[in-house]
Amino acid sequence: MNLAQFPRRRYTVGYTPLEYMENLTKALNGPEIYMKRDDLLGLAGGGNKTRKLEFLVADALKQGADVLITCGAVQSNHCRLTLAAAKKENLGCHLVLEERIPGSYSKEAGGNNFLFRLMGLKDEDVTVVPGGSSMLAEMEKVAETLKAQGLKPYIIPGGGSNALGATGYVACAEEILAQSFDMGIDFDYIVTTSGSAGTHAGLAVGFFGNNTNIPVIGITISRKNETQVPLVTKLAKETAQHLGIREEFPDDGIICFDEYFGEGYSLPTEGMIEAVKLVAEKEAILLDPVYSGKAFDGLIKLIEKGFFKKGEKICFLHTGGSPALFHYSSDFPLN
Ligand SMILES: *Cc1c(COP(=O)(O)O)cnc(C)c1O
Repeated sequence: MNLAQFPRRRYTVGYTPLEYMENLTKALNGPEIYMKRDDLLGLAGGGNKTRKLEFLVADALKQGADVLITCGAVQSNHCRLTLAAAKKENLGCHLVLEERIPGSYSKEAGGNNFLFRLMGLKDEDVTVVPGGSSMLAEMEKVAETLKAQGLKPYIIPGGGSNALGATGYVACAEEILAQSFDMGIDFDYIVTTSGSAGTHAGLAVGFFGNNTNIPVIGITISRKNETQVPLVTKLAKETAQHLGIREEFPDDGIICFDEYFGEGYSLPTEGMIEAVKLVAEKEAILLDPVYSGKAFDGLIKLIEKGFFKKGEKICFLHTGGSPALFHYSSDFPLN
């Protein structure tokens, strides 16, 4: 695959570290655990959306846009990073925030919301809509208003998850392959969160396009397999096409586990709290309560069930999100 054919902005210097988790490996007494530290990507607070934005913002600039519009939940990491990219590029930014839990938006809230304000987001740059709204329709409304003011808006879909954004995770797959070759580690599995699907789809296409046969296991954070698997598969097929991979991405190429998100998106689970505490205590690495904490809980449970076995090598992708920890601190009973 020739990713250099696509315009790209760079927001991270070099590769993110791929680290062996010696203490976690001992504590879990199962496979060897490595962590791909995408929490250390560039832009304010880091996280997986930075890789997608490298391709999305390059496209916006190519099209002559002067303001980015995107959407997310009230504590959205994607919104924080889109705003950060806009600041770097001297573009405007408008956020459409979905109150998935009624009354959950507060202008004074901490975590990512505090960082929106810190980076200079104004009241008029935020539209709050009720849970279940059509986010695309809401963003198009905002785009019309901005156009009427003479601006050139560029809409980035939720989570940056279209074929262009997912290309950032195809690039990440190639980065992992280069590092694993360099370190002499032959991974049996990659484990990631599977949300708006760009990360999971991009990685799966990256490993598929390089004929590696390394399975990418997605732990879902809001949807059951019957909706998540088709969502990721569709995006993977579109991404493979966008890249010009001759062979079609297989219908059965996406694997998800859907038992670890509890009552729903962003709602804390006991397993998530245990996982976030364990990784903090053993490795001094901060997971997040909405995504990577639930994914790591899934990894622990799948070791306990014997799905991942001793002698295997697992690469867990840390997708970031730790700024949200400071919003959810009251959920963590401290001993
Ligand atoms: C958005 C996000 C995810 C999910 O990635 P998708 O590409 O939307 O599936 C995982 N972790 C964090 C911290 C995120 O912000």
